[in-house]
Amino acid sequence: MGEGETPTAALNSVAPTAFGKLESLNPTASFKDRGSSVIASSVVDESTPYEGIVVASTGNTATSVAAYAARARIACAVLVPQGTGTAKLSQVAAHGVSVFAVDGTFSDCFSLADTVAEDDGLVNATAIYSANPYVAAANRSVAFEIVARLGEAPDWVTVPVGAGPLLGGTHRGFEELAEAGLVKQVPKMVCVQAHGCHPIVRAFETGASVEPWDEPITTEVGAIADPLRGYSEDGDRTLASVRESGGVALALDDETVFEWQTRLASVDGVYAEPASAASVAAINACESIEPSDSVVALVTGHGLKEPAETDVAPTPVAGADEVRDTLLGE
Ligand SMILES: *Cc1c(COP(=O)(O)O)cnc(C)c1O
Repeated sequence: MGEGETPTAALNSVAPTAFGKLESLNPTASFKDRGSSVIASSVVDESTPYEGIVVASTGNTATSVAAYAARARIACAVLVPQGTGTAKLSQVAAHGVSVFAVDGTFSDCFSLADTVAEDDGLVNATAIYSANPYVAAANRSVAFEIVARLGEAPDWVTVPVGAGPLLGGTHRGFEELAEAGLVKQVPKMVCVQAHGCHPIVRAFETGASVEPWDEPITTEVGAIADPLRGYSEDGDRTLASVRESGGVALALDDETVFEWQTRLASVDGVYAEPASAASVAAINACESIEPSDSVVALVTGHGLKEPAETDVAPTPVAGADEVRDTLLGE
């Protein structure tokens, strides 16, 4: 459907050397389409035993897999945590797949999806490394496209992270380009999590391996609130990419993330969902990034999925002069 080949746009308000990779402009408005197109192809491929798809998601994977399943005419069941935003769910339902609400977190949805996929005819399309090999592999194309656009790998890439196959896949893509002699450096990868659920950042800071997040999840930034319960080794794979690249993992509070969602929309014209604004906020928050360093933030999903809480009440107006004065400042 035209997934990938998304724009890499300058974010001049952030820094003269900052760019946003606008994954929000994929067919279902998030980067998840890269993995979903490969998963759907794997089911259609007659050399695999698959006949249907089950997927756990906080929203964007559900929408994406549902769209590609519809297009490939594959049976698809979606498991979401109770309380998932209705904007995302109505998009899922429009694709005509079965949606089930699970009383629990994303981790509980994943564990149920894994049990369902014990039947060989079903593939678990959940967007984490432990579920299937396709998703992280598909995300390598993000690196290929950034280099095609910029001519070289940037110094840094900032990535919002739940379990992290986007960060790990993108890092792998850069490594493959370096191994092929096509780029001189592999960027330092920045893992960005929400403070209200940051198991990977916590392990980065303590030097330990990743432990599941057992405290309450206190962030509203849904797309990256993954406690990694039952598959914390996925977090270790992501952390390994961060460490090997010489990168950083950092947590941001919700207030900062929402502030940048609005700022990005009002200053750069880019409407991103909160998780995606987090990667841009990280350029500002990460002290290791020098002002002259080149950096690409992955703007992972569109703002229409989780709209900013801006004041939308229009000002009542009597005539043209008032409007004109506002525009021309008289
Ligand atoms: C899935 C998702 C993420 C997190 O990516 P992972 O690689 O799965 O951790 C970030 N932002 C958005 C908008 C997402 O949908």
